[in-house]
Amino acid sequence: MKVGVLGLQGDVREHCTALDGAGATPVVVKTADSLASVDALVMPGGESTTIGKLLDRFELLEPLRDRAESGMPLYGTCAGAILMSKEIAGPHDAPFRVPVLDVVTRRNAYGRQVDSFETDIAVRGLDEAFRAVFIRAPVFEDVGDAVEILASVDDRAVLVRQGRFLASTFHPEMTGDNRVHELFVSIVRGAL
Ligand code: GLN
Repeated sequence: MKVGVLGLQGDVREHCTALDGAGATPVVVKTADSLASVDALVMPGGESTTIGKLLDRFELLEPLRDRAESGMPLYGTCAGAILMSKEIAGPHDAPFRVPVLDVVTRRNAYGRQVDSFETDIAVRGLDEAFRAVFIRAPVFEDVGDAVEILASVDDRAVLVRQGRFLASTFHPEMTGDNRVHELFVSIVRGAL
């Protein structure tokens, strides 16, 4: 099973390594042709405005929206999660999104004091804690009824699932722990 990693910005190599460890075949996606060749896609973190603009410039936005709407599983981490959000709250919008996930998201929501942090989180379905790294992370301010919260920090959702769509406000690719990628790969297997 081929799982693409959007290769415009962010931890592309780390996501590929984690997907490989999770039993999928990773493919770096930078073109509509490579997008057409994958069964699912991971959108790494970075800067969501920039990634959105690059999606538009590389003519990936429309094909990506089409595929996501017609059944392709997607996993967005941090900026990738912002790009999947149906709604953005607050002063910083993110144009050029793939708005499939029924959440309201606020960018850079932790403020400057706690700009970036790490913490152990309990993830539904995992026996042991997962070390979650947050970097200028967004917050899911509101989630729709169809959205399942798989992990929270201080009563805020940080890992959510809506059917074949998975999104986290943290970076699971940074710690060498593949369990969140394994979860996504099992969602992809179920969706194919
Ligand atoms: N702060 C970034 C944004 O708003 C997201 C940060 C990240 O992906 N680590 O786009």
